[in-house]
Amino acid sequence: MFEIIEKLKLIKLLVKLISLGKLFKETGIFVSAQLAKKPTSSRYRVLDTIRRHPNISRVELATLTDFSRATVTGITQSLLDNHLIIETPSIDSNEGGRGRPRKMLDINSEAGFVLGIKLSLHQMSFSVTNFKGDVVHTMHLPFRGNQNYEVTLDIVEIGVQRCLKKAEIKQEKISGVCIGIPGYVSHETGMCHWSPIFTERDIPVAQLLQERLGVRVFIENDANLITLAEHWFGEGKDLSCFAVVTVEHGIGMGLVVDDDLYRGTNGIGPELGHSKVEIDGKPCRCGQLGCVEAYASDYAILREADVEFSLQAYNENPKAYHDTITKITEQARDGDVHLSSVFAEAGKRLGQAVANMIAILNPQAVIFTGDGMRAGDILTKPAIEEARRLKLSGDENETEFVTHVWGDEVWARGAAALTLQHIYAEPEEKQNTSAKATG
Ligand SMILES: [Zn+2]
Repeated sequence: MFEIIEKLKLIKLLVKLISLGKLFKETGIFVSAQLAKKPTSSRYRVLDTIRRHPNISRVELATLTDFSRATVTGITQSLLDNHLIIETPSIDSNEGGRGRPRKMLDINSEAGFVLGIKLSLHQMSFSVTNFKGDVVHTMHLPFRGNQNYEVTLDIVEIGVQRCLKKAEIKQEKISGVCIGIPGYVSHETGMCHWSPIFTERDIPVAQLLQERLGVRVFIENDANLITLAEHWFGEGKDLSCFAVVTVEHGIGMGLVVDDDLYRGTNGIGPELGHSKVEIDGKPCRCGQLGCVEAYASDYAILREADVEFSLQAYNENPKAYHDTITKITEQARDGDVHLSSVFAEAGKRLGQAVANMIAILNPQAVIFTGDGMRAGDILTKPAIEEARRLKLSGDENETEFVTHVWGDEVWARGAAALTLQHIYAEPEEKQNTSAKATG
């Protein structure tokens, strides 16, 4: 526990040092700290505050950002000049409608569009979102994972063109693309080190797609995108420290610490799915034994429900198994005794892993989400009960549990959030000399 706390402290310290320009790019340390960096430019803070509080006045903006009114006026004028924000119909400041009306500010949703792509084992999803992160068009393509990466990227390219055509948005209006991939993905280097989607390892996905699409491409672990979506728009909007647990083909986790996505030293972040709930237990897709994923993910539930199940066949045709898990879930929810007990046991194991995570991290909330939420209470109830049963007693600020019913929009908005985070911060990051707040 102390080690984790020390690690978090160290990362915070490194972020501070970087902002002071005291760390050299050549060092490995720089890379790990940069991963935990969130945009801190005054432009970013102003844009993000306007996004979180639509139709805000300059006075309120100054209060919420802790900037002086002069600083706010300067930044908002520049944002207005660049058409990134708009002045909305004013609200009279004086009773009776007399006096000078106050001008309110809002994000210009048409200022640019971003494209989010999610690769999963049975389909590819594409979503265009506007400058506020609202989804304007979504499209899915059938796809079979565990493919050669060039074939996969061919399909991604076709999907992007088709999605933009259907959304009636020209490619030059796209400010950035973010692709969410399950597995070991480094946002910083753009590398996918391992994913069940590809048959190869260490693929520079961001670079390869950027060359194909001619626009900036970011990649991110899919669980991190969902976590970002929860922080920008969802259940974690008002929280500064929370964990998101995703249940799907695998078990994923994202973590927000001090309002910042925690990506760890390897750029990937926490891997709850491969934390152990039994020594020398059931075989996991990762090759190890006893991971919680081997007890509570879709494939683990299928393995328990069906004696014919094989991990290899699953990897070869995940789409077929996706349909089966959907059917099994319905039967369990309808009261099938054997299947209900399979979900109850899966939930209990998930609760054990979550309890361990809470003991180490003490988050304000744990948000359960992902495709696996199709099971509802039959999975989450035993998970939450077990996590509560195993918690330390006397904990005043108890961790809250939230279940968020899955929607395709969630990850798309996460992809939008990640891309917009870069765009909101951009000019000052590029210039390397940020306008300092004057208090
Ligand atoms: Zn594992």
